[in-house]
Amino acid sequence: MEVDKVARRLTGAQLNDYAPHHYSTSKMITFIRLISVLLIAVVLSACQKKQGSLTWTSIDVNIPTRQGDAHLLTMNGRYALIDTGPAEAAGKLIKFLQNQKCSRIDFIIITHGHSDHYGGLVPLLKSGVKVGCVYFNPPSASHIANEPWGCSNGEIAEIRTELQKRNIPLKAIDKDTEWRLGKDAVMQVICVFNGIDTPVGRTDINDTSAVLMLTHKNIKILFAADLNRAIGDCLTTNCPPGMLQADILKFPHHGAESFPNDSLFAAVNAGTIIVPAPKELWLSERSARGRQLTKEKKVYINGIEGDITVVSDGNKFSVSSAKQSPVSADR
Ligand SMILES: [Zn+2]
Repeated sequence: MEVDKVARRLTGAQLNDYAPHHYSTSKMITFIRLISVLLIAVVLSACQKKQGSLTWTSIDVNIPTRQGDAHLLTMNGRYALIDTGPAEAAGKLIKFLQNQKCSRIDFIIITHGHSDHYGGLVPLLKSGVKVGCVYFNPPSASHIANEPWGCSNGEIAEIRTELQKRNIPLKAIDKDTEWRLGKDAVMQVICVFNGIDTPVGRTDINDTSAVLMLTHKNIKILFAADLNRAIGDCLTTNCPPGMLQADILKFPHHGAESFPNDSLFAAVNAGTIIVPAPKELWLSERSARGRQLTKEKKVYINGIEGDITVVSDGNKFSVSSAKQSPVSADR
């Protein structure tokens, strides 16, 4: 009734005005529907893309006078951390995780018992980040006694206490341990020794490093922790051909001597190298061989370029940092 009354009151001119307006409204609705369908398709495809992609950030946990390793891996909403940097840089690690909105880490691997790798663990636990479990082979008492500059009984005891308080399991890493980050991404142990019963006899704590190979379909990343010369040579000599080959190498021992002999780098043959080191260390005499070895490679130093992020889709990867736009590389 009301509508009829209104229609009757409209003059011809007004009706003419009304018709195109009505026409454009229905056109607008169709347009909005189309855009909505397109937006949903774009979001779904982005989600699918994200589902299969693997992100690794080599977090800058260096301070000018001290180096550190901390690497966050993310895939399908799961988080894993390889090493936690030194206690002095724990604030940087915690801030990075907060920026990523990462409040739960499924597992943390501590590659070996030096505080530039485990020092951030206790502050991280105290910050409230939830942790599923920690993989770590604490050094033997005799190793701690021999290398008091790198680790201490007190710090190792504190790690155990803080994990127990939170019911977080502390698990050992052995040569058969492997971690699945998703259907197509698996991390395996290339080597892990206890520094006592090794093929080359007793070694230092650096050579107890768990050396890890992360395989995401056709992309391989070698995390060489603080591998040193003795076990480095042992790997070069004994690993079957191709076993050490990787697309990306996390440079061992922060690029500083006593990292492995050149033959190891030839066996890995990675085109992209990421070095967790402060600028001062990378530019020092201790890293002269590292700079020479990587001259022809794509090299990223996180103490110079800030956090470095690698995104892999399993066939190609891109590398970006705060100071450099992404660089893509096909396998
Ligand atoms: Zn180290």
